[in-house]
Amino acid sequence: MASIATIHPSHVNIPRLPVDSEEQQFESWLIKYTKSHILHSQCTTADKCANTSSERCTFCVYTNSLAIPHLPEMVFPNNILTLVHNNGGSIEFNALDALQCVCSSSLPFRVACSEAWKESRPAHLLEEKIKPYDWTFSTDYKGSIQGNCTVEPTDERIDMERLKEKEKILFYQELMLYEDELHDNGIAQCTVKIRVMPTSFFVLLRFFLRVDNVMVRINDTRLFHDMSTNYVLREYTNRECSVKEVHLPLPVFGDPNILQAHMPVKTSLYEKLIFEESEVAGSNT
Ligand SMILES: [Zn+2]
Repeated sequence: MASIATIHPSHVNIPRLPVDSEEQQFESWLIKYTKSHILHSQCTTADKCANTSSERCTFCVYTNSLAIPHLPEMVFPNNILTLVHNNGGSIEFNALDALQCVCSSSLPFRVACSEAWKESRPAHLLEEKIKPYDWTFSTDYKGSIQGNCTVEPTDERIDMERLKEKEKILFYQELMLYEDELHDNGIAQCTVKIRVMPTSFFVLLRFFLRVDNVMVRINDTRLFHDMSTNYVLREYTNRECSVKEVHLPLPVFGDPNILQAHMPVKTSLYEKLIFEESEVAGSNT
């Protein structure tokens, strides 16, 4: 087990030991996760945080570096999935970076949706609850890439049939990054899961939003790597529609796995993340 300091981003300080962590090497990839408790809902070391920016508590790191005026009800700052290639490049999934992307989400539909939502709310609740920001915490986060990696557009697609094949699962993990119940008006949640098979790995980062009786949105980022190649395919899709457009029984609206197949794709992005093997150590330069 690696020391925690090497695992998570330098801008977040981990308090004490994480509840759970694991790492394993698969071919050229070191895959690791940490999992721990929810973010405190207030500053834990006010004296320190007021005087120095270098030793802020995690709560202050979040509130100071994010443009949104308040955080989701549940944020898991130490739930982090990292995939590190031998060449030094890496892909990471964490809540802070996911929340950094909240403001860049699709604006027009969001506004239309909040108008509809506003109409369904009693007036006295509106002043308190409707604020001029994305209260749905919608993110188009696609993971955080660092180091030796080249991103380019591609026509190649993830072979979903191959993923349905019964292959042994060597490693599996699912992490909640954040969740909010929109004041009991639905759900907004961001999760990431990974499975590693003998010849490939697959990651699904999903933002799921349901505003009850109004609309649903699913922003998925899928990563697939065939171990015999030097690249990872990354596919991002934004699906959204009003609840009226989906003719399905109510319980289905709680299950994004079923729901997503019935929702129209609004935007998509297909990329190849190339991780060149590093030079052989000791070779002449
Ligand atoms: Zn603080």
